[in-house]
Amino acid sequence: MSSSDPDHNPARLRREPPQFRRVTVIRVEPVTPRLVRITLAGPELAGFTVDEPAASVRLLIPPAATGAVVIPAWNGNEFLYTDGRRPAIRTFTPLRVDADSLAFDIEAVIHGEGAAARWAAAAEPGAAAAVSGPGRGYTVDPDAPAFLLGGDESAIPAISQLLDVLPVGTPTRVHIEVAQPDARVSLPVREYTTVEWHDLPGGAPPGTALVAAICDAELAPGTRVWVAGEAAAVQRIRRHLFDETSVPRAHTTIRGYWKHGRAGAGADDT
Ligand SMILES: Cc1cc2nc3c(=O)[nH]c(=O)nc-3n(C[C@H](O)[C@H](O)[C@H](O)COP(=O)(O)OP(=O)(O)OC[C@H]3O[C@@H](n4cnc5c(N)ncnc54)[C@H](O)[C@@H]3O)c2cc1C
Repeated sequence: MSSSDPDHNPARLRREPPQFRRVTVIRVEPVTPRLVRITLAGPELAGFTVDEPAASVRLLIPPAATGAVVIPAWNGNEFLYTDGRRPAIRTFTPLRVDADSLAFDIEAVIHGEGAAARWAAAAEPGAAAAVSGPGRGYTVDPDAPAFLLGGDESAIPAISQLLDVLPVGTPTRVHIEVAQPDARVSLPVREYTTVEWHDLPGGAPPGTALVAAICDAELAPGTRVWVAGEAAAVQRIRRHLFDETSVPRAHTTIRGYWKHGRAGAGADDT
């Protein structure tokens, strides 16, 4: 088929994500008033492994009306139900994957409106969902001289996991923006690590405090930078690092985790 053929479809097909596995909520634990830990389990998690920190899973959220999971079909570009409707699928950080009990945790920000936030706020043991993944995580350079981690509340689970696995003794600075003071969590305590919490000023666009903190941070040569949060904010951080500092791109991982004012927006990566 040539490109002049009227049947030629120039749309690129995307690689099909890993199949959905049905899971059941077995535990729900509030971490803060803004963050809830949900343990998902089920026999279909056999073989589900996550080798890197700050990886991702797609969570299929069943319609609130039925709570029943119907696995959508991949049409070459996206998942759709057979009637053409788009399922609610959101991305989370898989935590504490336990191959023996076939369970893992996610921690969801209760930020207000949103299929996942509503589902997480109301989740109870026995609720059904499905997960697909994992998506790639962060490759830690064991020889890095220092780390700078930054994020908003959506990145707290990933940052907490990173602090568990970054090389002990490597100087690490962490900046986290929270929308309200009680969103602060206890993070793993490590030597040579400082954690600074930044309150988002009332009425300011998300990421305002995080962008300021990262742009103010002094970066020792070779520092590896990992930042995740609202897409426009991390784009400003990206521009700062690439245009105004000499940090090599290869030393940075900057991920848009959500888009202000837009539902279900996925990641964009550096
Ligand atoms: C790789 C990766 C890992 C992620 N890990 C986590 C995680 O572990 N925990 C987690 O909570 N999130 C995580 N996220 C972010 C999460 O996928 C998004 O926040 C998602 O949009 C939430 O879906 P929702 O249905 O609640 O809201 P949506 O329906 O997507 O959005 C509804 C409205 O809420 C706003 N909104 C969305 N998310 C937030 C937020 N966090 N804070 C304030 N407003 C928001 C949107 O701008 C929109 O206006 C991750 C994202 C990626 C790409």
